[in-house]
Amino acid sequence: MHVATPGTPRSVEYVAAVVWGLAVWLCERGIDRLGVCADPRCPTAFLDDSSNRCRRFCSDRCATRHHVRAHRARHRATQP
Ligand SMILES: [Zn+2]
Repeated sequence: MHVATPGTPRSVEYVAAVVWGLAVWLCERGIDRLGVCADPRCPTAFLDDSSNRCRRFCSDRCATRHHVRAHRARHRATQP
């Protein structure tokens, strides 16, 4: 199967193949597996490959950063 017109630049073929692969992956697993990071400072999209479909952050590092920021904000709010 060809996902790009013959003779197109190699980079276009790679991008077309990646988009094709993403479309197949989403069709098999469901569009709800495509998400955007729950951290308001992070615009990263991700594919949720968890078994219970509950992933909220693009990475563990981003989740930790978000939770530390929330913890510090709660701590500041309790300080006089
Ligand atoms: Zn993120």
